Amino acid sequence: MTTTQAKTRFRLEQNYPISKLTTFGIGGPADWAAFCRSAEEVVEAVEFCRQNRLEYFVIGGGSNILSSDNGFRGMIIVLQIEMLEIDDDCITVGAGYSLHKLVEETVAAGLEGLEALAGIAGTVGGAIVGNAGAYGVAISDRLVDVNLYHLLKGFYTERKENLGYKYRHSDLKWSQNIVISGRFQLAHGDAACLREKMDSILAERWQKHPKGNISAGCFFKNIESATAPHGKIAAGYLLDQIGAKQMQIGHAGVFSGHANILINKGGATASEVRDLSIKLKEKVKEIYGIDLTEEVILLGDFS
Ligand SMILES: Cc1cc2nc3c(=O)[nH]c(=O)nc-3n(C[C@H](O)[C@H](O)[C@H](O)COP(=O)(O)OP(=O)(O)OC[C@H]3O[C@@H](n4cnc5c(N)ncnc54)[C@H](O)[C@@H]3O)c2cc1C
Repeated sequence: MTTTQAKTRFRLEQNYPISKLTTFGIGGPADWAAFCRSAEEVVEAVEFCRQNRLEYFVIGGGSNILSSDNGFRGMIIVLQIEMLEIDDDCITVGAGYSLHKLVEETVAAGLEGLEALAGIAGTVGGAIVGNAGAYGVAISDRLVDVNLYHLLKGFYTERKENLGYKYRHSDLKWSQNIVISGRFQLAHGDAACLREKMDSILAERWQKHPKGNISAGCFFKNIESATAPHGKIAAGYLLDQIGAKQMQIGHAGVFSGHANILINKGGATASEVRDLSIKLKEKVKEIYGIDLTEEVILLGDFS
């Protein structure tokens, strides 16, 4: 099979702009993009990569990614598996399901445990990989196990205890494992109370986050510190102190409501965002002696 002759069940695109797949709205072309709505289509896409010696990278909602202006030499697998099964207080959900939609569904079903995650952009798969969280709750808290696909291992299920979960980290990052679905154990609760809690979380969130698709949320991780209240120093606090909100490179800037959110002010390039992030890091290091680490995944070549 050659790539140009390929007949595939999944939607296959050539020279596809990654900017269309990320909430930053930034990113050059991917040589290939495969849009996969089922586990079978994922297998087919991975097989396509193997046969054509292509590297692959999975994107869910693209809400935690800064893609290089040069794009990606290989295939972007866009994960769009959207199944949802609710069995009493146990939930199995496809990796491509919107995380916010999942929270809404569980709240409506009177199931407690995920409501603090309301409003987080992206998919369940991306959240499982990056251990997304908010308000002291992480997605791994309620996760039981994950169904994965790996080129060499095929399909298998891994319990969360074996996935190295830490603050905004799991061993699934950069692992070539593809999350197909996740299983969560929730608790029965009162739907009206849960909705109230979710609404207040959403109201608070909308004050701290920019409207529309112009960012990838917090750019840097908070700094873990045993002596800090709640065990962390907020990267946003340090960035605010160094005057981040007044800094800009080209069309890349910092959101006025939150100094840890870098934004595309319209037509920003990945290089501009990257350069701004480096400048911010250097300033924090110079003044506080602290090394910030990126929460956002850098995809492609930034050299
Ligand atoms: C406005 C805004 C607010 C945000 N607020 C928060 C917040 O409060 N808390 C928080 O934690 N994050 C937040 N984020 C960041 C982001 O929403 C989360 O990190 C989210 O979980 C990423 O999911 P995604 O599907 O978009 O992943 P993507 O950005 O598509 O991918 C992120 C990583 O996961 C991998 N990946 C994605 N899906 C799969 C899969 N199925 N299999 C294997 N690998 C996969 C990718 O390869 C990549 O390495 C915010 C982002 C925005 C834009």
